[in-house]
Amino acid sequence: QVKDRGKGHYRFYRPQMNADLLSRIQLDHAMREGLKRQEFVLHYQPRVCMESGELRTCEALVRWNHPERGLVLPGEFITVAEETGFIVKLGQWVLQAGIAQAAAWARQGTPCQVAINVSALQFQQASLVDEVAQALQQHGLPAHLLELELTESILIHDAEEALARLQALADLGVHLSLDDFGTGYSSLTYLKRFPLHKLKIDRTFIASLHEDETDAAIVSAIIQMGHALQMQVVAEGVEQPEQHQRLRALGCDHFQGFLFSPAVPAQTFSEALQGPGLRYRG
Ligand code: C2E
Ligand code: MG
Ligand code: MG
Ligand code: MG
Repeated sequence: QVKDRGKGHYRFYRPQMNADLLSRIQLDHAMREGLKRQEFVLHYQPRVCMESGELRTCEALVRWNHPERGLVLPGEFITVAEETGFIVKLGQWVLQAGIAQAAAWARQGTPCQVAINVSALQFQQASLVDEVAQALQQHGLPAHLLELELTESILIHDAEEALARLQALADLGVHLSLDDFGTGYSSLTYLKRFPLHKLKIDRTFIASLHEDETDAAIVSAIIQMGHALQMQVVAEGVEQPEQHQRLRALGCDHFQGFLFSPAVPAQTFSEALQGPGLRYRG
């Protein structure tokens, strides 16, 4: 990254810079066109509840159905969308689409809480609270069927402002979770003050949970701390039965991962909600 750091600092030049910039501008333009052409879709990954084994919550994950490249995963476009600011527009679309889907499932008699990822830049928009409130009202969705997933990066700018915004969202009745927990900078002071319903343990800790005693100790500590602070704990990236068993023994409340299912199109998820294949027991 090349930035003008002001007097006394050198700017440096990489030959790659122009190419990078050009391809980012092109990608940004293509995404904006793609959004207009309704090429973005949400897929839904189930979360399994430890107590009931039932499927009552899921995470909405955005994909780009590109006419030439096929289904493009967020790893290929989210970073650029965040850099250019397009994430704010995309995030508004995701919010509308996710809330519309959650409302449809509730109307069908198969309610499922939908968790939506909110980027730090989107969270910084003062209009976010009104947008959420309006979308809930417009689609007639009970607020508790919406969860917003935030990361510790929302604290970077103004922690007091972030706290006020979180409180306003929580006051709507929306559930809030802290995503990728353990990889950022949140202090225990914030965790105590923030109105969070859930902690999501980052999948890097889950990956070696069953082989690495240090990771197992960290996961155990996160679960105990979450419970002590009245939060539920979600494990992401559960891929192996041994990880699931270990997490169950540690008292983790929800499991998400390829062991159960990847994110699937809405239609497939609807069928799972309606069908008998609802219960996972491991
Ligand atoms: P995330 O919010 O931490 O989402 C979890 C990611 O882990 C998803 O990747 C999911 O497909 C993947 N995953 C789930 N289970 C497993 C598993 O068992 N093993 C492994 N290796 N991976 C698993 P995905 O869909 O590619 O999304 C990547 C990231 O992109 C997300 O991480 C999130 O930060 C971002 N993202 C996705 N959708 C949105 C969105 O609508 N808005 C925003 N702002 N960010 C999004
Ligand atoms: Mg997430
Ligand atoms: Mg995550
Ligand atoms: Mg993650």
